[in-house]
Amino acid sequence: MCPMNAPALFACPSCQRGIYNGTPSCPFCGYAPRGPVLASAAAAPPVSFSAIIGGLCTVLVVVVGLGGFFHVVSGSEGATICAKDGWAVEDTFVSVDDYAGKPLLANLHKAKVLRALFSCGVLKRPEWLDK
Ligand SMILES: [Zn+2]
Repeated sequence: MCPMNAPALFACPSCQRGIYNGTPSCPFCGYAPRGPVLASAAAAPPVSFSAIIGGLCTVLVVVVGLGGFFHVVSGSEGATICAKDGWAVEDTFVSVDDYAGKPLLANLHKAKVLRALFSCGVLKRPEWLDK
């Protein structure tokens, strides 16, 4: 999914051992590659397209991975960050209005969100739950 950028290995034309593209001379036999090998190394752009895609992949994975731990709860007093009740991709952005003032049974399918909102104090836990 995410391409990694590794320096290209090629066989030394003199001793056939693997040396990296862009190396000025073979560390084993001292052979200095000329022509297309050096030219292509010099012409290579500093940041390649696949490096950019790889970087975006990494950012996306990190954002989704960290977002899986937190709810961003929006309400009348602005947004609050609450820890999720277990890692999950869904329900990262929730609104208090969807839960406040409604019977718990109406949001039974969102029990994990309710538990998270109770434990971080955004929603008041009904007293009868603890009896
Ligand atoms: Zn060599």
